[in-house]
Amino acid sequence: MTHVFHRHLHQTPPVAVAGRGVHLIDAAGNEYLDACGGAAVSCLGHGHPDVLAAMHAQVDRLAYAHTSFFTTEVAETLADHLVRTAPAGTSHAYFVSGGSEAIEAALKMARQYFVEIGQPQRARFVARRQSYHGNTLGALAVGGNAWRRAQFGPLLIDVEHVSPCYPYRDLRAGETPRAYVTRLADELDATFRALGPERVLAFVAETVGGATAGVLVPVPGYFKAVREVCDRYGILLILDEVMCGMGRTGALYACEQEGVVPDLVTIAKGLGGGFQPIGAVLAQRRIVDAMSQGSGFFQHGHTYLGHPVACAAALAVQRVIERDGLLARVRERGAALERRLSDRFAEHPHVGDIRGRGLFWGVELVRDRATKAPFDPAQRIHARVKAAGMARGLMTYPMGGTIDGRQGDHILLAPPFIVEEAHLDAIVERLSDAIDAAVDLGVATV
Ligand code: PLP
Repeated sequence: MTHVFHRHLHQTPPVAVAGRGVHLIDAAGNEYLDACGGAAVSCLGHGHPDVLAAMHAQVDRLAYAHTSFFTTEVAETLADHLVRTAPAGTSHAYFVSGGSEAIEAALKMARQYFVEIGQPQRARFVARRQSYHGNTLGALAVGGNAWRRAQFGPLLIDVEHVSPCYPYRDLRAGETPRAYVTRLADELDATFRALGPERVLAFVAETVGGATAGVLVPVPGYFKAVREVCDRYGILLILDEVMCGMGRTGALYACEQEGVVPDLVTIAKGLGGGFQPIGAVLAQRRIVDAMSQGSGFFQHGHTYLGHPVACAAALAVQRVIERDGLLARVRERGAALERRLSDRFAEHPHVGDIRGRGLFWGVELVRDRATKAPFDPAQRIHARVKAAGMARGLMTYPMGGTIDGRQGDHILLAPPFIVEEAHLDAIVERLSDAIDAAVDLGVATV
């Protein structure tokens, strides 16, 4: 009997009691290799001593001070650290408690910015199908996952959705990646023009699509083209790096790898590495200047903005990443993971696509490799892979609805940056067994 309102009301998950390095341990003593960092969160794994020490020290010094009365040294230091390492032109960090809150704040910043500069007619957002930006109403509205949106549709603001950058499914026969980019940029341009570009606030996109589409790495030149289309009409570019940012792709910000600077960037998961709930919006100076020279404040706020213990955890996580050169390690281990995935699955009859960057990988499952036909959604292959993985001591982050919110299955891998080569072997070994068990390829199903 549980009184916790769990995610699923017919299943109570195992009780987690400890975490050490890349492993989580449950109350029955089972050990799980965390190949997904939960939901791409635990970038330093579990129980990192430096982060724990920083949190303990902060709790002993000061656990909480409301931001309408005080700032704190730790929030100031974290903001300095982030601005120093953020995309060029970033001047401020707005600290919240997670990814959805970061997106909500970014949407409101975009709106207030245009009100401040005398363009109050701008009131529409454009985003992408198959994107995920969070579950609060604003974030769900910009998100493009049909299944997640369906029952809440009547509550959502009207957002226009364009195609994702999803070459495995959408690159046409004979089309070059360059022509594909042009087609997507033209679609965005046409969407802005149909809405009236002077009425559009921002285009919102995950730099590398994560949870709902299974790690969609942009085709080279895609974001440069997007940036140009936005600039043509003075429309802001909001990049959501809640999942793909803070080193996950091998650069601190995935947009660095695309050679673009967004107007606002949201970060969360890898910022605090799961040690504390924290997210942030990083804003370009001109956005902050508009508010500073206008009303003088951002009309927003939450009780836990800039929570000192969360800031202490995030600062410690980011310092460890810098001190230990973990971005280089993400690139190196990422290449090793890619090699193992393609060695094991390149010819697998039910693996259609392996895609990713750094330590952020998606494996798209198909019923038929040649036609790319997905499994029947009723088979819930993704859920079976997850269960089969857990039974083998492996945490992965599979999801269904990869293609259109209903059809398609993928598995997301996002191991901690501290993962060793031997762990990568175990991940691929157990994943392979779990996939075969889920699709019944002669391995005992769990
Ligand atoms: N944005 C992206 C890209 C995400 O992947 C997520 C969560 O998975 C969110 C926003 C929402 O973050 P949170 O669950 O912390 O509210």
